[in-house]
Amino acid sequence: MLNLKLMLVEDDDELRERLGKILTRKISAVFLFANPMEALEKFEEINPDIVLTDVKMPQMSGLELIGAIRQIKPETPIILASAFSHSSYFQQAIRLKVEHFLIKPIDVDELISEFRRIMDNVNLDLKFTTQEKLVAQYKRIVDVSCLVSKADIHGKITYVNEKFSQLSGYSKKELIGEPHNIVRHPDVPSLFFKNIWETILNKEIWQGIIKNRAKNGQSYYVETTIAPVLDERNNIIEFISLREDVTKLIGAIEDAQRLEKEKKDYLALIDDNIISSSTDLNGVITSVSTAFCRMSQYAPQELLGQSYHLLRDPQTSQKFYESLWQTITKNEKWNGEIKNVAKDKTSYWVFASITPIMNSEGIKIGYTAIEQNITDKKIVEELAIRDHLTGLVNRSRLDAIFEYEIPQSLRYKTPLSIIMIDIDYFKSVNDTYGHLVGDLVLQELSAILKIDKREADTVGRWGGEEFLIILPQTDINGARTRAEKIRLATQSHIFASVGSQTVSLGIAQLEQNDTDASFVGRADSALYKAKNMGRNRVMG
Ligand code: GH3
Ligand code: MG
Ligand code: MG
Repeated sequence: MLNLKLMLVEDDDELRERLGKILTRKISAVFLFANPMEALEKFEEINPDIVLTDVKMPQMSGLELIGAIRQIKPETPIILASAFSHSSYFQQAIRLKVEHFLIKPIDVDELISEFRRIMDNVNLDLKFTTQEKLVAQYKRIVDVSCLVSKADIHGKITYVNEKFSQLSGYSKKELIGEPHNIVRHPDVPSLFFKNIWETILNKEIWQGIIKNRAKNGQSYYVETTIAPVLDERNNIIEFISLREDVTKLIGAIEDAQRLEKEKKDYLALIDDNIISSSTDLNGVITSVSTAFCRMSQYAPQELLGQSYHLLRDPQTSQKFYESLWQTITKNEKWNGEIKNVAKDKTSYWVFASITPIMNSEGIKIGYTAIEQNITDKKIVEELAIRDHLTGLVNRSRLDAIFEYEIPQSLRYKTPLSIIMIDIDYFKSVNDTYGHLVGDLVLQELSAILKIDKREADTVGRWGGEEFLIILPQTDINGARTRAEKIRLATQSHIFASVGSQTVSLGIAQLEQNDTDASFVGRADSALYKAKNMGRNRVMG
């Protein structure tokens, strides 16, 4: 059964009925009309797939009917059936684009196969139209979203869509016939295009981002797909390119890259200028800045994985480090001055801020120290408190220590004692050997005065050839023992050039109502007594 709607127009009742009967069995819908006028009236309502009409009919000729149908639906397939094979009919039929011409009597089989042929064509047309429509829709979508261009095999532009022309700033007229490098940006090397040509001439699709230059000189970026179009023998006929404007995206990427670079430069600047280091919880170094390495004179690999002890100054007390660790292990920030030792064994001072490092879960994983090199400041400070000749602390430093130790001793009721030392007959050393030799004696004696010096003790030059030793947590007996040791050591020392030399010593322990003047005054009196009693002795 053929699935089609047939309109059959035949004024011969017998022929119409007979043909109608046969065809109804073979075709899904047959509409019979004796009168072409009626057929025409119903034409639009029925909308037949095929019309089969007689030529000679009383009310209206078949050819007239066809003419009228052509007005309504020009593409309708029409078969003309006639008992005459007059050539003028044929000519008219051809003019009216009649699908087929039948000579009566009608051969039903021939007719059916003709129907089949027509319907196949109709379906093919339909398929073609659908595809054409689909292609048109695709083109519309592509046109609104992409820059489209086509080029011949030499790369000359043969087509551009509106978007291409808009973004490039060139009119279609300016573009057509030109090579694509009309929009080429001078930044893009020719090797880049060589690579594109190699790919597409190899019948492959090229994809990538291209920097272009618009007519006004502005650059824009297009994500591009270039595909060769091949004919049935696989030869390249042309190239079609789709481009998407990604200028904004590239701009954003470039911004991000610039920011990243700025951040890197900034971090490098910090790294180079900020002395910083990190350790794990056990004080093992985990990171160091370039500035830190420069200061400590170690290379990063010499520090990483090492204990912080590597930099410790051996003279700094264990107690100092203990109190530092106590602070930071309590998650408190520690600020203070630290003396360190560089790789070449020279000392340097830093003011450090040490803070704990927490991981993202808030668990402490180590410590970070930000440091300032205060070595210069320390040198100036040292100069200010040291006596140049002997290297001992000077008078003003001794005064400062009194200012601290006397109230401490009074508050905590801990003993505090001092030893005042004066070289015996020193004037005669100067007189006999000269002032320079006298200076050397002062230097040698300074070393002797440091015998048994504890960390809390201070040995200073009080003035001229008089010295003062401050002994915290020491009572008068302790002071006497120390003084006696110094006296004996001096007595047994052979001074360069001058040989033997003695000292007299006066000792005193701080009393409840003492001021620094009364305290030193007592030691001074004791020293005076020692001189008077024949020198080379301890009094107090
Ligand atoms: P005494 O046993 O009574 O102390 O006798 P003395 O000769 O040591 O007498 P005194 O303490 O009065 O003399 C101090 C001398 O020390 C006077 C001064 O020339 C000398 N003197 C003070 N400072 C220096 C110094 O920096 N270098 C040298 N070479 N001599 C100094
Ligand atoms: Mg003196
Ligand atoms: Mg003297």
